[in-house]
Amino acid sequence: MSDCIFCKIAAGEIPCHKIAESDNVIAFLDVMPITRGHLLVIPKKHVELVYDAEPELMAEVMSTAVKLSATAKKVLKCDGMNLLLNTEKCAGQVVPHVHLHLIPRYSDDSINWPWPQGSLDGETASQLVKTLKI
Ligand code: 5GP
Ligand code: ZN
Repeated sequence: MSDCIFCKIAAGEIPCHKIAESDNVIAFLDVMPITRGHLLVIPKKHVELVYDAEPELMAEVMSTAVKLSATAKKVLKCDGMNLLLNTEKCAGQVVPHVHLHLIPRYSDDSINWPWPQGSLDGETASQLVKTLKI
């Protein structure tokens, strides 16, 4: 897509700190890192939302992220890692091109995910299983 910043990065029209590249996927440093080593892994082909992405393409994105997570763990000596894919505005997606965040975590980084958790009752669970099952 012509006015998509990540398409421009994928096409080499906008510079990035590239970490990995294959035919379909590119990974680069996030320009506003949450922690040291924060990376983004994206499909080169434009797709805005993960719902509309080809599963095989996202498998390539994840495969790259898994390899990078192993390298990051070794090199950065981080204590953990969050892999995060925000989808749509209410879930925090700002850039409208699918991207997987790879966020190295450090015991002293003091970042919290303030997501309150509920509980799952039997009726809701069976309803969800019935309707979501593929
Ligand atoms: P989102 O909130 O959409 O899940 O995350 C978008 C991410 O893209 C943010 O972490 C932001 O820092 C990063 N980002 C936005 N524009 C650029 C850019 O031009 N270059 C790079 N490397 N990262 C960007
Ligand atoms: Zn794009």
